[in-house]
Amino acid sequence: MKYRAVGFDVDGTLIKNIGYCWELFHERFGVADRVRLSLKRQYFEGKITYKEWGSREVAIWRELGVTRADFIKVIGSLCLSDGMHETLELLRQSGHFLFILSGTLRIILERLIPDYESLFDYTAVSNIVFDEEDRPNAFEPGHPLREARESKRSELETLCSERGFALSETAYIGDNDNDLEVLEAVGLGIAFCPRNTRVRSAAKVAIENPDLRKVLPHILGR
Ligand SMILES: [Mg+2]
Repeated sequence: MKYRAVGFDVDGTLIKNIGYCWELFHERFGVADRVRLSLKRQYFEGKITYKEWGSREVAIWRELGVTRADFIKVIGSLCLSDGMHETLELLRQSGHFLFILSGTLRIILERLIPDYESLFDYTAVSNIVFDEEDRPNAFEPGHPLREARESKRSELETLCSERGFALSETAYIGDNDNDLEVLEAVGLGIAFCPRNTRVRSAAKVAIENPDLRKVLPHILGR
């Protein structure tokens, strides 16, 4: 088996009609672009940690009075990519280690892929903690590096070394700028409905149709 592990991004990859869920929630909850972009800039300039970034965004939502039901309503407008279950089943049958490495939020998986814990061997996503009144209360970065998150690539390296895979034995499927480093680092980077030419050129293979079954011949070599 050329590729022993297969990793997936979520927003734009397992789920087809979304860029980044954080941006979608901000937009639907009416958070001003300047507020969101200011936090994003502070994170990329190294002024706040990933955990602080997420915590401050969650605090904004809490202040707006949104509840779990509001998140669920937004998630209801999202769809899984075509052939997702079939693709995962075939990869599992052929003995691949399947994982999610994503900046998405666990509530999205819980709603759209409720069987995700049995479909994937490992899931690294972030989490919103809700209080007793179902209001967002805290943010938990769910990545292997936790608060010290630097990039998806370093998280992938941590995961691979913990699980005993070489990067060259790993395939990864992603769609957006936050996947660039990982797509370049793995043995088989697959750009899935890539958002731009940077993503397309960072990957070995680009798939333009939102059907996950299209990744199979590249991973399985048949
Ligand atoms: Mg994505």
